[in-house]
Amino acid sequence: MTAEKTEAGAEISAEARMEFLLGLRQRGIRDTNVLRALEQVPRERFVGEEQVALAFADRALPIDCGQTISQPYVVAAMTEALDVRPAHKVLEIGTGSGYQAAILAHLAKSIVSIERYRTLADEARSRLAELGLANVTVLVGDGTEGARDYGPFDRIVVTAATPEIPKALTEQLAAGGILLAPVGPHDGVQMLTRFEKGSSGKLAAEELMAVRFVPLVAGKAASL
Ligand code: SAH
Repeated sequence: MTAEKTEAGAEISAEARMEFLLGLRQRGIRDTNVLRALEQVPRERFVGEEQVALAFADRALPIDCGQTISQPYVVAAMTEALDVRPAHKVLEIGTGSGYQAAILAHLAKSIVSIERYRTLADEARSRLAELGLANVTVLVGDGTEGARDYGPFDRIVVTAATPEIPKALTEQLAAGGILLAPVGPHDGVQMLTRFEKGSSGKLAAEELMAVRFVPLVAGKAASL
């Protein structure tokens, strides 16, 4: 299959899109706002041309700089667990393709997303602009430092594996806020963990499911 937008291609794509949504429902995604956001964001625009045929398969796919766009089910489950409301300010660490940021853009007031590779940040920024998602700010930098000038955030989502939550992120989480991150070793399986910040500032952790993410690497990438 080619990436060309032929009529036949568009038909296949509509079918694939429906199956994709059905699959998410079957796997337990219930939040209709989350499902609608996944329906509205064209995942094929976030992958390379050679991956377009696989854009609606429920799997992670390679993107530039040796990174990956997450599996749609994981994006949906994470978005659901984040419990995003229309008034929320959200921080994402690890922009990657910009897909998760695009989903969040449909649900929250504003998104700040940080990526350590300039190439990925630039590509994501232009995709998001093409889709008219003007409430996302993509920054190049080290996400382990958060984005102090833009905080505090109602929700923080880390989309790269980390053995522990960087202190700057818990500091930039508002009281009552939720932080979601794949906690565990860089090589192997992590536990997607949901942290809720109480009024005393203490975090309550809840383990959600096993996931596999590329590592969170401190520092901005030297090249690319
Ligand atoms: N959310 C992305 C997928 C994330 S892949 C999507 O929807 O496509 C993880 C991303 O985190 C990679 O692009 C990687 O470069 C980035 N990353 C890793 N460490 C980082 C850091 N310290 N700061 C910012 N981005 C980081």
